[in-house]
Amino acid sequence: MAKFVYSFSEGSKDMRGLLGGKGANLAEMTKIGLPVPYGFTVTTEACNKYYDEGKRIGKGIIGEIYEHLDELEKVTGKEFGSVDNPLLVSVRSGAVFSMPGMMDTILNLGLNDATVVGLAKLTNNERFAYDSYRRFIQMFGDVVLEIPKTKFDAIFDAKKLEEGCKFDVDLKTEHLIDIIVKYKDLVSREIGRDFPMEPMDQLMEAVGAVFRSWNNERAILYRQLNNIPHNLGTAVNVQSMVFGNMGDTSGTGVAFTRSPVNGEKKIFGEFLVNAQGEDVVAGIRTPQPIDQMAEAFPEVYKDFTRIADLLEKHYTDMQDMEFTVEKNKLFMLQTRNGKRTAASAVKIAVDMVNEGLIDKKVAVTRVEPGQVDQLLHPMFDAKELKKAKKLAKGLAASPGAATGKIYFNAKDAVDAVENGKKAILVRLETSPEDLAGMVVAEGILTARGGMTSHAAVVARGMGKCCVSGCSELKVDELGKTLTIGKKVYKEGDYLSIDGTTGDVYDGNLKTVAPELSGDFGKIMKWADEIRTLKVRTNADNPRDAQHAVDFGAEGIGLCRTEHMFFEEERIPVVRKMIVADSERDRREALAQLMPFQKGDFKGIFEVMGDRPVTIRLLDPPLHEFLPHTDEEIKELSEQIDVPYEKLAKKVQELHEFNPMLGHRGCRLAVTYPEIAEMQAEAIIMAAIELKKEKGMNIKPEIMIPLVGFKEELKFVKKTVVETIEKCFAREGIKLEYLVGTMIEVPRAALTADEIAEEAEFFSFGTNDLTQMTLGFSRDDTGKIIKNYIERQIFDNDPFQQLDQTGVGKLVKMAADLGKQTRPNIKLGICGEHGGDPTTIEFCHRVGLNYVSCSPFRVPIARLAAAQAAIANEK
Ligand code: PEP
Ligand code: MG
Repeated sequence: MAKFVYSFSEGSKDMRGLLGGKGANLAEMTKIGLPVPYGFTVTTEACNKYYDEGKRIGKGIIGEIYEHLDELEKVTGKEFGSVDNPLLVSVRSGAVFSMPGMMDTILNLGLNDATVVGLAKLTNNERFAYDSYRRFIQMFGDVVLEIPKTKFDAIFDAKKLEEGCKFDVDLKTEHLIDIIVKYKDLVSREIGRDFPMEPMDQLMEAVGAVFRSWNNERAILYRQLNNIPHNLGTAVNVQSMVFGNMGDTSGTGVAFTRSPVNGEKKIFGEFLVNAQGEDVVAGIRTPQPIDQMAEAFPEVYKDFTRIADLLEKHYTDMQDMEFTVEKNKLFMLQTRNGKRTAASAVKIAVDMVNEGLIDKKVAVTRVEPGQVDQLLHPMFDAKELKKAKKLAKGLAASPGAATGKIYFNAKDAVDAVENGKKAILVRLETSPEDLAGMVVAEGILTARGGMTSHAAVVARGMGKCCVSGCSELKVDELGKTLTIGKKVYKEGDYLSIDGTTGDVYDGNLKTVAPELSGDFGKIMKWADEIRTLKVRTNADNPRDAQHAVDFGAEGIGLCRTEHMFFEEERIPVVRKMIVADSERDRREALAQLMPFQKGDFKGIFEVMGDRPVTIRLLDPPLHEFLPHTDEEIKELSEQIDVPYEKLAKKVQELHEFNPMLGHRGCRLAVTYPEIAEMQAEAIIMAAIELKKEKGMNIKPEIMIPLVGFKEELKFVKKTVVETIEKCFAREGIKLEYLVGTMIEVPRAALTADEIAEEAEFFSFGTNDLTQMTLGFSRDDTGKIIKNYIERQIFDNDPFQQLDQTGVGKLVKMAADLGKQTRPNIKLGICGEHGGDPTTIEFCHRVGLNYVSCSPFRVPIARLAAAQAAIANEK
């Protein structure tokens, strides 16, 4: 028969799924003989059953709770509802994954008009007993009966005023008794029945309320933010009360076995004499550092440090513990693996390997890849952040913290930086022309654009802090003002932005530089020994390539050549090419571009040495490079000596309603093969020259984008191969090279067996593949997706975490089909998903050879790839 309630003596730490984290660890501590106030856990399955049965606790479960309560009475020697020796319990939530403070807790349950007298006698402290009772009614009224807390507060404050009491502690027993009468009246009025006096009724109502708190707004939001499934349910822990507020021989505290901030091996925590747990958490009184407990309670402290040490060894991980001292006796109320910063995680993992507590493999799993970012970018000084004024929140597009004076265009930002200022570039959205400003700016802030917008992608590539899509900003680029709420910021005013959280702050907040400690290097080395997936980077200039190599990149998985077209001195030539009337004119402009491209490729090849480099032919629609406003068109017409009318007409001609599905990718090379010719020549000549000049053996991988049909690929490939063969003949040299394609159009995935007849490698462009499979525009759907996540239609943003069920199915199918045709086909991913740990795990499982991501994500990917290998070990 199904069992829904477990005593602490029946469970263990391995029963987390059923008992929740708290319940499983309370059981484990009980099992290993630690002083835990006895109790029992109602399982997560009971919670799900409660919901399945229309928010009712079934008879069977009620029966089991009765049985366990009997046992609890026997173990404690106390009795539920007894006047002489009342059993009081706490009722606490406990989910599988810790959700601190998100769900409900009720303390002192079991108190009523009769048992309060018993408690007073037993503790010899009437005031304490009545104060506990009034707190209980208030907590139960708020959490279980859903009566607004403010109504209780109003009664309480009125009494304080009436009696002339400044502090809560000034209220005497008779005042508390009067408050209790009024509280009970309030309850009767609000719910149309009396406050439940029967402890068993109180308990059942409380259990139901904790189940319901699983679905309160903040718990749902917390799960969304932390990717916790909504169907797990919470367990409920019913535990006999111990009191830390029984005078100066009692107290309560929380402690970690090592520092959660920097990992130092030392007990770290806080303690309060004569207090209950919630006083510490609520910050009503300032707790003392834990070592002062050694002075107040030397014996108990000794006991506590012994238990802390034992728990850490038992769990082989840093523990976060809650405890209470009741009349000089220590009770453990909770233990769990402690949350920690990345710096702390790294130090603890390495130290524990040195101490022989864990092995290297376990150490590698102890650092969360998502947290590694913290170690690679500047952050705001924690103290400053506490004082800071938060103005708005956008998308956390590229991590790190930045502070500086705001400028509204690239030129102003560049000028400011040349004059020794620190700049934050503020734009409605960024475009290719902003690049120079982005390079010099400390950070980038945009009002529009999602996580894969130009600003976000480019900023991540540079490892530069970026907050995008901050819709609360009103940006007037011409007037050079930024309005947030009522406040107007002008050019040169200070703002601070946090690309790790998306927060925007007023003023000039201090940042602290990242420290790549030796321990971090060790974890990375261990990860490299374990992983089988290779990690490449997306980079299109030598500087980013070098960054990535420093971070351990093993190649370039995507070099977006269009980014080379954005450079200031090239853009007029690019524009000349675009507006050219004839193939001849176009070839002339292309010939001018060729040396630039070749030089760039040489620079990148030199940095990468014998590491593989995938270079993609031009992808975006041509009009992206053209000016749009009248003024810009006029300016360009003078610059390139093309009449204004002609230029304006060309811009209009090139306009597309849906450019993302328009004239881009291989379609450009089909229309204008000379573009592909120029690029192929630049790539191969760069390699040939390096062979001649430096004896380097470069083996370029040339990638053709946006292919949906084998014939398209065949057509463009022919141009590429013929161009390269001509170069070989002319230069009297031959090199190895590959020609492959991106798989980013669903049709390419569906026909990957045919495509593989032409393609020597596949690289999954999951940005476009997601866009086209989901039918969601990658640039415009930020708001819709946010809405979908809020309504639990999506668990997360499919442009950040691969939709494994849908898009992933296409990836797997294409990988399998590709291998059928060409068993040794090289397979990689280069969409933004390539740096996402869950996607990396997927890539490992479906047998890709590498992932490619922006330079600053390379260490994250290395770690995630190692964790994927460990998780999938047979
Ligand atoms: C992709 O579509 O996933 C990709 C990497 O190409 P881009 O983002 O340049 O379209
Ligand atoms: Mg693409």
